[in-house]
Amino acid sequence: MYSGPGVKTSADFPIPDTMKAWVLGNPGELKLSEKPVPVPKRAEVLVRIDAVAICATDLEIIYNGPPASIQGGMPFNKNFTPGHEYMGTVVALGPGVDEYKIGQRVTVEIHAGCGQCKRCREGMYTSCHNYGLNYGDADKGHRANGFTTDGGFCEYQVNAINTLVAIPAAMSDEEATLVVTAGTAMYGLTELGGLVAGESVVVTGPGPIGLLGVAVAKALGAQPVILTGTRDNRLKIGRELGADHVVNVRNEDAVEAVKRLNGGKGVDYVLECSGAANAVNEAIRMVNRGGKVCLAAFPHEQTPVDVAHIVRNNIYLYGIRGEGKSATHRAEAFMSQKRFDATKIHTHTFALDDLPIAIRYAKERIEDAIKVVVKAQGVAAHRIAAE
Ligand SMILES: [Zn+2]
Ligand SMILES: [Zn+2]
Repeated sequence: MYSGPGVKTSADFPIPDTMKAWVLGNPGELKLSEKPVPVPKRAEVLVRIDAVAICATDLEIIYNGPPASIQGGMPFNKNFTPGHEYMGTVVALGPGVDEYKIGQRVTVEIHAGCGQCKRCREGMYTSCHNYGLNYGDADKGHRANGFTTDGGFCEYQVNAINTLVAIPAAMSDEEATLVVTAGTAMYGLTELGGLVAGESVVVTGPGPIGLLGVAVAKALGAQPVILTGTRDNRLKIGRELGADHVVNVRNEDAVEAVKRLNGGKGVDYVLECSGAANAVNEAIRMVNRGGKVCLAAFPHEQTPVDVAHIVRNNIYLYGIRGEGKSATHRAEAFMSQKRFDATKIHTHTFALDDLPIAIRYAKERIEDAIKVVVKAQGVAAHRIAAE
């Protein structure tokens, strides 16, 4: 029977001893396997995973390895379960936990951090100095779900209480999986130094973070918000999420378009979410003198950057990692107030058993897939005939 020292459970939420879990074999290979249901320790809870969204970073991990780091190395053939954008129901409490109740719905942040290092103490737990040191003699208590520890492509997962975000009954499971994506955009925009209402923002790249970056910037009062990208269907969703202007960079030079749309001087902030090779050089020309650029995506290859332009124009560059400083809570506050409809980027739902099909939809962008969600319950398994 499922139990652990000091762990509280409830007859309303019976917990099995083992669960279905997808594990990563060789690159690109996911196998459905069975694992023991993990047991929460101090300051942790067990979450029954109700929905998990697939992120571009999951595809990176599954096919290439980094940024996952398991036991200090590549994540392949280590019985590792990826997946990090999940939500669910609290079903067991670790010893001493009274901050959450069994039966409560939560969404989760990815990074627990070690809680001991300088950056964790500053709230920058996504930049923990003990990142990934959670094994062997170097057990620092660090967790990053689906990156350094098991993630959400399974039925249950333990989470530190500092990663939980309570969600209202009115928020659907699918919408709740998007809170951490909005939280990443929120972290970027607030780390830039505090966007003040009425300041101008460009978001480059209409992927999930970029699209929710538009929504968060608009909810924070930015004006205008300009979205650049190459796909009209995604730019259209950007408009629905609050972009004042959209620019298809296949038809128009992005830098010239931004200047034309904002009085010739460029904008105060750029949130770079495209990872395109020349994105930094374009972003530093889209901001006005003294402007700030947040880099939330990265190209695979190294690229030359016009440093002289950055220095001469007092431009600030910020790289962000994930969703630090409780930005996820602030994003959830916007979403529960319905300041924007994040579900506009959710396009497909599959059963957990069909994860490989779901991954293919996300990777190949089948039927214009943006956010593909997988659910352990309540979704019929995919019929081959329907493919
Ligand atoms: Zn993600
Ligand atoms: Zn730390």
